[in-house]
Amino acid sequence: MKVRRRIDVSGMVQGVGFRPFVYRLATRHGLTGKVMNTTLGVTIEVQGPQSAIQEFEKNLPAERPPLSMITTLASAPLPCAEESAFRIVASANSAAVRTLISPDIATCDDCLREMLDPGDRRYRYAFTNCTNCGPRFTIIRSLPYDRPGTSMAGFTMCAKCQAEYDDPLDRRFHAQPNACPECGPRLELVDAGGTSTAGDPLEKAIDLLKAGAVMAIKGLGGFHLVVDAMNTDAVSELRRRKRRVEKPFAVMVPDVATAETLAVFDRVAREALVSRSRPIVLAEKRHENSFGDSVAPRNRRLGLFLPYTPLHHLLFQIGKFTALVMTSANLSEEPIVIGNEEALRRLPEIADCFLMHDREILLRCDDSVVRSAGGSLQFVRRSRGFVPAPVFLRDPAPPVLAVGGELKNTICLTKENCAFLSQHIGDLENAEANGFFAEATGHLQKIIKVTPAAIAHDLHPDYFSTRWAQQQTAVPCIGVQHHHAHVASCMAENRIDGPVIGLVLDGTGYGTDGRMWGGEILVADFNDFERAGQLRYVRMPGGEAAVRQPWRMAASYLWQHFGDEFLRTCALFPELPENRMEPLLQMLRRGLNSPWTSGCGRLFDAVSALIGICRKINYEAQAAIELEACVETHGLCLPYAFEIREEEGRLVIDTKPMFLSLMADLRRGVSRGEMSRKFHMGLAVVFTEAILRVRQEHGLNRVCLSGGSFQNAVLLREMRTRLSEQEFEVFTHSQVPAGDGGLCLGQAAIAASRLRGKMS
Ligand code: ZN
Ligand code: ZN
Ligand code: FE
Repeated sequence: MKVRRRIDVSGMVQGVGFRPFVYRLATRHGLTGKVMNTTLGVTIEVQGPQSAIQEFEKNLPAERPPLSMITTLASAPLPCAEESAFRIVASANSAAVRTLISPDIATCDDCLREMLDPGDRRYRYAFTNCTNCGPRFTIIRSLPYDRPGTSMAGFTMCAKCQAEYDDPLDRRFHAQPNACPECGPRLELVDAGGTSTAGDPLEKAIDLLKAGAVMAIKGLGGFHLVVDAMNTDAVSELRRRKRRVEKPFAVMVPDVATAETLAVFDRVAREALVSRSRPIVLAEKRHENSFGDSVAPRNRRLGLFLPYTPLHHLLFQIGKFTALVMTSANLSEEPIVIGNEEALRRLPEIADCFLMHDREILLRCDDSVVRSAGGSLQFVRRSRGFVPAPVFLRDPAPPVLAVGGELKNTICLTKENCAFLSQHIGDLENAEANGFFAEATGHLQKIIKVTPAAIAHDLHPDYFSTRWAQQQTAVPCIGVQHHHAHVASCMAENRIDGPVIGLVLDGTGYGTDGRMWGGEILVADFNDFERAGQLRYVRMPGGEAAVRQPWRMAASYLWQHFGDEFLRTCALFPELPENRMEPLLQMLRRGLNSPWTSGCGRLFDAVSALIGICRKINYEAQAAIELEACVETHGLCLPYAFEIREEEGRLVIDTKPMFLSLMADLRRGVSRGEMSRKFHMGLAVVFTEAILRVRQEHGLNRVCLSGGSFQNAVLLREMRTRLSEQEFEVFTHSQVPAGDGGLCLGQAAIAASRLRGKMS
C-alpha cells in the first residue's frame, strides 16, 4: 500500500545542492513526489511504500550534502496523489527568505580535478566552483540567494554553463556562481600605476613572485598581500612597507605534508587545516623551521593555511611554491581591501603589482584563525568560512542586535534560536573600520531579515559601538558590563543557564565603578552578576601609553608594592633617565592620567617587561604572547605565591608576594623561561583557590572561563586541569573567540534575557 508524506526541512538547505540530493535520494528509493524551496527552507512530498519512505526519512539527514545543515525536520501524512515521477519544482521569487546562507567554502575535490585536467573545459580556470564549493556570503547583495542578487549578476552563462545550471542531476544545478572561461570572470595583472600587463596573468604573476615582488592578490573576502615566504628579503620588504614590525604573518602552504614540515599538528589542528572553512591554523613551530624567524619572530606558533580558492591552487600547482606569506591587504588594523580601484588607491606604496579579477567582492571577510587547545578547537578569529552560520542557542531569543566592544569587533543578531555573528570587523578606534561596522551591521540585518527589538552595547561610554548604539533612537538600548558579557558568551555557546562562577581574564573592560576591570571572578546568570573577586587595582601611568609600553606597568607595580625610593634606585628602567623619574612618580602618587586597572593583561605586561621579554609592544597583547612563548616546560616548578584578602565582601588578589619572589629570582639570574612558568602556574593556583572560596560561599560548581587572556594556552590548560581536579564543571569557548571577538554573543544573550523578563 502506498502512503504520502510531507517533510519540511529548515536550516542551511538552499544554494547547497539540497534539492538535487533529495531528487536522487527519492529516485533511489523508488519514490514519486516533488521538492521545492520555500520561505522556510525546503518542502518535500514523497509517495511510495511505507518502508521505502521510512528509509528515505532516515537517510535524508544522514546523507545530506556537505554544505547543508538541518535545524528542523517536520513530517506529516498527506493523501496520495496521481503521479508517476519525482520532480524538482521551481521556486517562486519570494522564496528563500528565511533560510540560512552558507559561508564561503574552499574548492572541492571534484572542481580541483577539473581544473587540473588539461582535457577539461575548466582547465586552469581560476573561478571554478559548484554547489559544493565556492563563494557565497561574500558575493551576496540581496536575497533571495539567486544569481541576480549576487556579484555574478553581470555575467551571462554560456550555453554549456546554463545546461549544467538547469540540470537537476548536475553538480552545478543552481550553483549561482557557476562560470567557465567562456562566460565567467577573468584574471588580470595590473602594475602599481594601474596599467594592465600583457601575457598570461597567472604565469606572469608567478614569475614576479619568484623574483621577490610584493603582490596584492584578490581572494574570496578581500585582497591578500603576498610574497614568497622562502625569500627573506621579500618578507622583510613586506614588513617595512606594511609598517608591521613583528606581528606574525600567516603562511599558505600547498598541502598538509608541507604544513607538517613547518609545524606540529595534533588531530584537531589537522582537521581544521583541511576543513572546508580553511582557517589559518596556529600550530607550534618545528625547530628546523627555516623561515619562522622572519615570518613569525619571537613566537612559538606559526599560522598556516591551505589553498581555498582555485586561484590559490593554481599558484601552487604552476608556481611550485613551498610557502607563500599571505596577509590581509591593509595598513595595520584597517579593514581589508576588497575593491579593484580601492586596492590601487590604498596599496600603491605596498604592492608592486595586483593580480585581480572582475568578480566583485561585496562583503569584506578576513581569514579566520583557529588553534587546538588541549584537544578542542578554539577560535582566535571567527570570520571567512564560518560566517554567517549561526551559533545555536538553547532557547529562542527575541531579536536583539549586539554591537560588541571596541577592539576585534564583531556584532551579533539573534533570531529565534540562532545567534548570527558577523565577520571580524576590526578595531573601531580606526576611522576606516567605522564605515565597515555600519556596512556589516546593515548587511547582516538585511540577509537575516530581522528588525531588532533592542540594541545591546558595552558600558564604556567612549566606545564607537556604544555611541553608535545610543544614536539609534528608534530602538531601546541595553548596556551590558564587559566581563558579564564574556561570561554570558561562554554560557550561551555551551547552552547552559546561570548562575555560574565566571573567571574572566582580559586586558581591559569598563567596570560598574568606572574603573578598568580585567581580572574578575563573577557570580553570574543571564540577567545580572555579582563581583565576587578581582585582581587588586593598580595604576596605569600614562593611560593608553601604559598599554603600548609594558615597562610602565612594571614600574607601577613595583612602585605600588615597594614605594618611591625603590623605584628611584632599582635601575631597572633605562626608559626613565633621572629627569623623567620624578614626573612618573608624581603621576603615580597623584593619579594623574593614571587610571586604576584590575586587568590581567596588564599584569602579564608588567611581568613580561620586568623579566626582559617585551618592554614595548608593536601589536596587541605582544608582551603576554611572548611571555607565554618562553615558558619552560621541563623540570619541577614552584609557582609564585599570591595573596588573597577579603575587602568589602569581595576577594582581592594581591600580587606583592609574587613580585617579591620574582625580584629575588631576577637577582639570582633565574632563566626567563622558569620565571615565566612560575608566574603562569602561580596565577592558576591563586585563581583556583579563590574560586574554591566562591564555591564554598555560593554553592556553585560550574565555572566559565572567558576573556582574551584565555587565548594563552598555558593559562587555559592549567586552569582547566586544576579546576577539574577540584571537581568543578569547567566550560570554555569553542564556537566563538574567548576574547572580544566573542563579546557580542554574550551581550545579545543578556539583552535577550532582560527583554524576556520584561515581557513576562
Ligand atoms: Zn566544487
Ligand atoms: Zn560558461
Ligand atoms: Fe574583553
